[in-house]
Amino acid sequence: MKRNVTCGELRSGDEGRSVVLNGWVAATRDHGGIGFVDVRDRYGVTQVVFDPAVVSAAELKLEYCIAVRGAVRTRPTEMRNAEMATGDVELAAEELEILSTCDTLPFMIESRLGQHTDAREELRLRHRYLDLRSATMQRNMELRHRATQSMRRFLLERDFYEMETPTLVRSTPEGARDYVVPSRLQPGNFYALPQSPQIFKQILMLSGFDRYFQMARCYRDEDARGDRQPEHTQLDMEMSFVDQEDVLEVAEGVLRRAFAETIGYELPEFPRIPYDEAMNRYGSDRPDLRYELELQDFADHAAGGEFGIFKAAVEAGDSVKALRVPGGAGMSRKQIDGLEEVAKTYGAKGLAWTRVGADGFDGGIGRFYDSIGADIRAGLGLQEGDLLLMVGAPWRVCCTALGEVRAAVAAELGLAAADQYAPCFVTDFPMFAWDEERGGWDPEHHPFTLPHPQYLDSLEKDPGAARGAIYDAVINGAEIMSGSLRIHDPQLQQRVFSIIGISASEAKRRFGFMLDAFRYAPPPHGGFGMGLARVIALMAGESSLRDVITFPKTTNMSSPMDESPAPLEPDQLAELRLSIIEGD
Ligand code: ASP
Repeated sequence: MKRNVTCGELRSGDEGRSVVLNGWVAATRDHGGIGFVDVRDRYGVTQVVFDPAVVSAAELKLEYCIAVRGAVRTRPTEMRNAEMATGDVELAAEELEILSTCDTLPFMIESRLGQHTDAREELRLRHRYLDLRSATMQRNMELRHRATQSMRRFLLERDFYEMETPTLVRSTPEGARDYVVPSRLQPGNFYALPQSPQIFKQILMLSGFDRYFQMARCYRDEDARGDRQPEHTQLDMEMSFVDQEDVLEVAEGVLRRAFAETIGYELPEFPRIPYDEAMNRYGSDRPDLRYELELQDFADHAAGGEFGIFKAAVEAGDSVKALRVPGGAGMSRKQIDGLEEVAKTYGAKGLAWTRVGADGFDGGIGRFYDSIGADIRAGLGLQEGDLLLMVGAPWRVCCTALGEVRAAVAAELGLAAADQYAPCFVTDFPMFAWDEERGGWDPEHHPFTLPHPQYLDSLEKDPGAARGAIYDAVINGAEIMSGSLRIHDPQLQQRVFSIIGISASEAKRRFGFMLDAFRYAPPPHGGFGMGLARVIALMAGESSLRDVITFPKTTNMSSPMDESPAPLEPDQLAELRLSIIEGD
């Protein structure tokens, strides 16, 4: 009773064949004593008809694992199911073997593509093995498999080596906390799980491997927030003797190939948008380009108008920006108030607005600008029926707050098409970001990124102005890859360490092995890490990364199925010479 066909392959041309199917009972129906049973495996579903005079289906229950032998026959015309690949045929059962039975199901296995069971997620994850049988999860895992293979093929064709780096390491520089693993043989010493293969892949370049990639597991001990997982897989790559454009071409090629081969979607060319421009135009370093709404500079108008708050903002050197919402005058006060809440969440003191009427501004702060109304209309390209939204604040806050308003407007007006993918690269990121709490500069990406040459002279004087060869790939507002060219000059590396407050001795302690290696002629190099789950979630149209991961953790980083994390046995603790400090 070993299968000789899968549940997805029989067609009307197979009529008359005697075949064996193996699979799970996906549905059972009884029509006047005749049993109709859908049998499912990874490849599809086939309808099997049980005539009790030949073989009975009475014992069968949902999700039993069975083997069934029978003859293929064409279904009567009115019984055909065009939505099923095997919908023209059915199997007339002649012999049945129950391979294993199934307990009462904690939830129904969802057979509709694009839907998940409405069971609580905790329950889905506790019984993930059942959830993974659903049509959507099967599809998502197939997409993931196929996209991974496409990426791999693309890179192999371009002479990349697939190489591994260790997952028990020292410490890593990505800026999250490390997960640590105690050493039994050296009590009191710990390995870290890598936050990325960053240092190792850079050392591989120094060793002459030139083009490397890896489907790398990365571990970051971050606070539970939104969609974060403690571990993720990234397509990690590095290449030598290249400029930024060489690396971007590979990233673009990988993504275009994966989208085309996996879901048949031809991604358009990726525009390259410098960070400052992305912030000024879209108010975000991961802009959603499916819709056009763009921020515009309002500072000159603000300086010439009568609205005191904006006048003062301009005098204080802050930015004032405006977002024109074509046809947005129809939005209600309630909707505008909602948008203001968004602006405030992102640090703005408020959101100013006015409508564009037939003969002048209408409502909100419009009356302060009546005298220069014509200038503003011409300058911003305003049309009757538009809504104008404005924020005044320090540059980054101003851009970000209005950028979030832009996204909220798009959501409110349904501007982003669900079946469209709009990619771009955001390039030339700042090298450093000011950390208010610590009162110091942090690396925007990690400490090994290469500043652009024009900032080298002023790096210490004005770290905030420095931009580097740092880039992200963004699709539909989701950051799916980031990377950079790297520093290969030890002196420059030391300068960057100093700016981010890592002394020479600390650098030696944390990254000494890398600094040592880099005394032996590193080549110029660069690379990226691309988050696999994020790419697949886009392809699958899933809003949660958990739906494209086989066995994800919940939002508090635990796994209901294997119940990790879990306490260690006392003898394990003793062997590791660890003791637990009780309390919060
Ligand atoms: N190591 C970086 C990351 O994991 C990617 C890169 O710069 O190559 O985000």
